[in-house]
Amino acid sequence: MTDQATKRVLLAAPRGYCAGVDRAVVTVEKALDLYGAPVYVRKEIVHNKHVVTTLEKRGAIFVEETDEVPEGSTVIFSAHGVAPVVHEEAKALGLKTIDATCPLVTKVHREAVRFASDDFDILLIGHEGHEEVVGTAGEAPEHITLVEGPDSVDGVEVRDPDKVVWLSQTTLSVDETMETVRRLRQKFPLMQDPPSDDICYATQNRQLAVKHMAPDCDLMIVVGSRNSSNSVRLVEVALEHGSKAGYLVDYADEIEESWLDGVGTVGVTSGASVPELLVRGVLDYLAERGYEDVRPVRAAEESLVFSLPNEIRRDLKAAGMSDKMVHDAGFTEDGSLH
Ligand code: SF4
Repeated sequence: MTDQATKRVLLAAPRGYCAGVDRAVVTVEKALDLYGAPVYVRKEIVHNKHVVTTLEKRGAIFVEETDEVPEGSTVIFSAHGVAPVVHEEAKALGLKTIDATCPLVTKVHREAVRFASDDFDILLIGHEGHEEVVGTAGEAPEHITLVEGPDSVDGVEVRDPDKVVWLSQTTLSVDETMETVRRLRQKFPLMQDPPSDDICYATQNRQLAVKHMAPDCDLMIVVGSRNSSNSVRLVEVALEHGSKAGYLVDYADEIEESWLDGVGTVGVTSGASVPELLVRGVLDYLAERGYEDVRPVRAAEESLVFSLPNEIRRDLKAAGMSDKMVHDAGFTEDGSLH
């Protein structure tokens, strides 16, 4: 039995919404306001169950492929990005498109295009089948080889070992990716690095906060969905850095009472696609069980914001919004759904 006095929560900061997710979610909300329901979204706008079901209730229809969207409708591309062929399909179907791809994913697309045009072999570190990887690889399929992790390095072949560069998915484990890069460099000593970090600031900062907390945690609860790459990585990072246990939950009611048996310190964090109200639900659940002492653990400050896609900005202005209102439209103080 854990003494009440020893029960506490370490609450990670930063956690939750990143700039790319906020922009993508607000893009769907503003599209619904401007054009009315339904608005079609190709794939989940961000990988979070709550966000998707909330937007569905407002009239968003999520589809897997562009050809499911009725001719002439509006379709939004998700934060994870799409391959050029998807833009072409949408054009052929006469769809109005709004691209909510995170600018930090677009940056990786541009790197892929540039290195491919210089005839490099590009080793893309990432998870097979993840939408972001499919989109990035689609920019230069002839030049890109997927590397799933350190254990797949042995099988990697290139045309010219002097002309190789590595790029990566934005939401990977920083440590595991560095290990993959180390092994790739052993094999291809002249391999170039990306011009700047591909693993984004939000992924890095959320992992950093978990690394600070994990050694003190008997249990880490990560709020996030199972298909959210950066959320799943947070559980792995917690376990690798000393948390005695770690679980991913979409909602507080998925927490099992037995997880708290003998637990003094609970770490709480959330993935980059998670609204803060879901974290509050977890904190309330813990407080009801004696974990009322909540201590923030801040690993980094974040202030990045992205402006909304051009199509939305243009139509908001046409609807009478000032530049300032258009700018402010994207952002809430607590990252909750609007
Ligand atoms: S996790 Fe990173 S890359 Fe993905 S949407 Fe957020 S900021 Fe962009």
